[in-house]
Amino acid sequence: MRCPSCSEVEDKVIDSRTAEEGAAIRRRRECLACGRRFTTFERIEGVEEGTVMVLKRSGTREVFDPAKVVAGVRAATKNRPVSEAAMVELAGQVEEAMRAIGSEVTTQQIGLAVLDRLASVDEVAYLRFASVYKGFEEAGDFQRELGLLTKSTEPKRRD
Ligand SMILES: [Zn+2]
Repeated sequence: MRCPSCSEVEDKVIDSRTAEEGAAIRRRRECLACGRRFTTFERIEGVEEGTVMVLKRSGTREVFDPAKVVAGVRAATKNRPVSEAAMVELAGQVEEAMRAIGSEVTTQQIGLAVLDRLASVDEVAYLRFASVYKGFEEAGDFQRELGLLTKSTEPKRRD
């Protein structure tokens, strides 16, 4: 960051704190050449109309990134017959769904939206993803989920 007094670009950060309710970081800097102190604000680039922010469990926010959805789906579809194109399409659908919710969504809302769509793509991937995003602790949860899935995707057989 160029010093406003002497134009030196080398400085050291002497203090960092969050500002604007976590949307920015305020840094107090000191020029290494002349010792002048100045303040900079760091914000996420490209936050504009239509940008979806994600509120994470830790309480921090980040810009919604479809690539992260693809990465999550890729992990769940490992060794399953699901194409990269299908994952990208799914991530695009999830992004649309999140935009419809509003300018801020939670990681849980994203997880559920992924689950909704993954169910019709691949059952095994769906269950793997569910185990992560719904925080299942007991095997019984899997059974219940599998029951729901079977109910919704398979026509009832008449014996
Ligand atoms: Zn300076």
